[in-house]
Amino acid sequence: MVWRKLLPRPRWLPRAAIMYPQRVVVVCFAIVMLLTVVIGVREVWKIHDRVVEQHQHSLALRALGVGTVFATERQRLAYLRDYAVAFYAGRVGQDFAQNDAQNDAQNDAQNDAQIEAAFAARNDDTWTLATGPDNAPVIGVGARRLAGLAGFARRDETLREDLRMARALSPLLGLLVRTDKLHLNVLFISRNGLFVVYPEKDRELAPSLVQRFDTMPYYRDLLPDRAGEVANDEPRWIANYTQFGDGQLISTLSIPIHVRGEFRGVIAVDVAQTRLQALLNAGNAPDETVYLMTRDGRLVSASQGAVASGQRWPADLPGDWRDLPPARLFEDRAGTVRQGAYTLLYQQSANGNWVLFEAVSPKRLFDAAIARMSPILVAVWLLLPLLLWVTLFVVTHVFDHYLALGEKLQELAEYDPLTGLANRRHFKLLFDQETERRLRHARPLALMMVDIDFFKRVNDKWGHASGDRVLAGMATLMREQLRTIDVPARLGGEEFAVLLPGATLREAVQAAERLRVAIAGLAVAPAPDAPAAARAEGDGRIHFTISIGVVEAGAEDGTTLDVLLANADRRLYAAKASGRNRTVSTDDAMATQA
Ligand code: GH3
Ligand code: MG
Ligand code: MG
Repeated sequence: MVWRKLLPRPRWLPRAAIMYPQRVVVVCFAIVMLLTVVIGVREVWKIHDRVVEQHQHSLALRALGVGTVFATERQRLAYLRDYAVAFYAGRVGQDFAQNDAQNDAQNDAQNDAQIEAAFAARNDDTWTLATGPDNAPVIGVGARRLAGLAGFARRDETLREDLRMARALSPLLGLLVRTDKLHLNVLFISRNGLFVVYPEKDRELAPSLVQRFDTMPYYRDLLPDRAGEVANDEPRWIANYTQFGDGQLISTLSIPIHVRGEFRGVIAVDVAQTRLQALLNAGNAPDETVYLMTRDGRLVSASQGAVASGQRWPADLPGDWRDLPPARLFEDRAGTVRQGAYTLLYQQSANGNWVLFEAVSPKRLFDAAIARMSPILVAVWLLLPLLLWVTLFVVTHVFDHYLALGEKLQELAEYDPLTGLANRRHFKLLFDQETERRLRHARPLALMMVDIDFFKRVNDKWGHASGDRVLAGMATLMREQLRTIDVPARLGGEEFAVLLPGATLREAVQAAERLRVAIAGLAVAPAPDAPAAARAEGDGRIHFTISIGVVEAGAEDGTTLDVLLANADRRLYAAKASGRNRTVSTDDAMATQA
């Protein structure tokens, strides 16, 4: 397109930028959008890390909460254990009797009577020892009932001592279960085949309870092993199991009582699953299910849903963690494990005996990150396409407007408005191009001058408007009759010229004749303002003829436009002079054609 030449073009501006400003706008916007996307992704990633940190933080807080409660429990158990050990050692329990001699005697007699009664009944299937109002009694079973239970052994020589201990411990256990909602059951089990349990159980259950104690990890695991080695004195967690009867899941914290290296019994507290859950959910419920696991890889509790008895790994953890050994969660105090896009976070207790963990899906993290995203960035994102659209709209409109304007200007500058043919200036330009081709490819180039015969008369008879119609009609016919590569032009008035690239003089003469004959046969409709008298004549249409002068560019007829036009003009006038409606292609006056 020629209009490109009309547009300004600084050297540094790429051609495409001038030709397609919309693309420049789109590219610029694309760059900005890409940048915001990069910034956004970075932002999301940073927030993502922050969300993980928050989860870790929340987990640490929960661990702290659970840890504090557990530590308190351990302290209580340790206290009860110490009390029991001191009692066995005679340092507590017996002393109060000496403060009040009368009470002492009375109490001792009464106490001893109760102890003796219980002792006497020791071989009954079940027997009890009262511990005072509001307190659970000591319940015992007969030696026969203990037969075959590895955890129990009746020893008459220590039975009285154990009975006193159980009686002294009972109010303390009762206090524990009444003051703390955490506890479901509190119990003391003596190896001697007696126990105190809160809440109180039916004494008829005693034999089956003893049997059950014998199998329960909170008791059995604390027994001396076969070599007689006793377990350490530390309280320990027994991961959850189903309580007989009501099917409720419970976990138990238990502590052994050793006196002079001899195992004497166990104090244990049951913690309801629901209460552990409340601990894990302390403050507010976490986004993900938080699990509590012991060092041996057993699940104790989950913040949501129940944990099955003896379960080792949560089935519904987001991600696939089947291959992750639980020990991995005990390698560090706290940390994260990544598997694909999933993240597992864990936090150990202060004593390292258990761990809290949760797994977060990438969708959760992403959603959380999106929710925390800067609204300004989101607004920019949403605004950018709108701005792009507005800018494109404006640029396209302005560009199209100036483009049309430029084309119009170019048309005006190069073409004659009446006939649509090239004007003299444009004709000169095209002539120069064709001359260059003529020289480069050594191919001929011919030129003709055309003038309407007696055009003044046409104007006079039909009016100027009809004369214009003749000019336009002639231009149309010229375009029809000539080849597409030929260039007809209106040089001015009713004078026309035609450039015939590749045509020899002979071929140009043939073309000229064809044109002349066609014009002679043309009938142009007059303009509406044509005089009625003229219309009444003949067919009422305008008939006219043309005269043509033909030259061929070269040594003979000249090479420049001016010389060629002058020569063609001379031949044209020779044609006029010799009678008009003819073509002249030589300067020999005799060579005119009819
Ligand atoms: P000849 O056969 O010798 O050429 O006679 P002619 O009457 O055609 O004479 P000439 O070529 O000198 O006539 C030019 C006339 O063309 C003069 C003017 O009235 C008329 N003319 C020039 N330009 C226009 C135009 O744009 N429209 C109309 N209607 N007439 C024009
Ligand atoms: Mg004329
Ligand atoms: Mg003329």
